[in-house]
Amino acid sequence: MPELPEVETVMRGLQACLQDHRIRHASVHRADLRWKLPRGLAARLTGARVVGFRRRAKYMLMRLEGGTSVLIHLGMSGRMVIGRGHANVAPHEHMTLESDEGWRIAFIDPRRFGSIDLVPTAAEDAHRLLAGLGPEPLDAGFTASVLAEELAGRKTSIKAALSDQRVVAGLGNIYVCEALFRAGVSPRRIARTVAGERAERLVTAIKQTLQEAVAAGGSSLRDYVQPDGELGYFQHAWKVYDHAGDPCERCPGAPACKGIRRIVQGGRSTFYCPRTQR
Ligand SMILES: [Zn+2]
Repeated sequence: MPELPEVETVMRGLQACLQDHRIRHASVHRADLRWKLPRGLAARLTGARVVGFRRRAKYMLMRLEGGTSVLIHLGMSGRMVIGRGHANVAPHEHMTLESDEGWRIAFIDPRRFGSIDLVPTAAEDAHRLLAGLGPEPLDAGFTASVLAEELAGRKTSIKAALSDQRVVAGLGNIYVCEALFRAGVSPRRIARTVAGERAERLVTAIKQTLQEAVAAGGSSLRDYVQPDGELGYFQHAWKVYDHAGDPCERCPGAPACKGIRRIVQGGRSTFYCPRTQR
């Protein structure tokens, strides 16, 4: 499933192709993905000028001239594939956009957990999928005191709390594990006990982990496009995620560190160093 940094990279790729350009032609190849697609979606997109982009959690918003935004979620398996000129519609390609510059952008989603909707730009945050989201982790407004306030009274693990989109938006399993490792906070710690200096470390770790991953995605269209035309990137430089049993980089040679441990919390794998994460 694409995580926040990858969604950011996909969005920047779309922006590099479409910002300040017109969608010459749009076609939609089925009536529903996870939910029903808006009526007249292709007609609304055809001829529209793209004036801006925004990411909120793992949602992309493509803003059109005239005050409408296209809300796009990649779901579990959604991909954006770009190319030049004409091509046949690929299997599982549900929407195709052709730009005035000759870009062809395909939304492909085999499992169809993705979604596309239209929302007034002035009311993006009131959309039912965005309305309940907590603070955006990379915004300046996401601070230790904001996090501590969200965690106060929560008796779940900090791992479960950070995975809750109402506490902080857009963090998935991988980045929760990575940020907790960087902060030296145990994933099993009770959420309400994370406050003060520990909350400071955690917020800093969340921001740095995400920022580094976004930076690793590159800074130009050339960086964002894979050889097969897919937008995004697949760099797996995780420090703990999927590293069960590997030596922990934080405690090389320390006999008390038996390496990175995997446990299951809420049905999802957690990876951590029991020696340094408290
Ligand atoms: Zn360790």
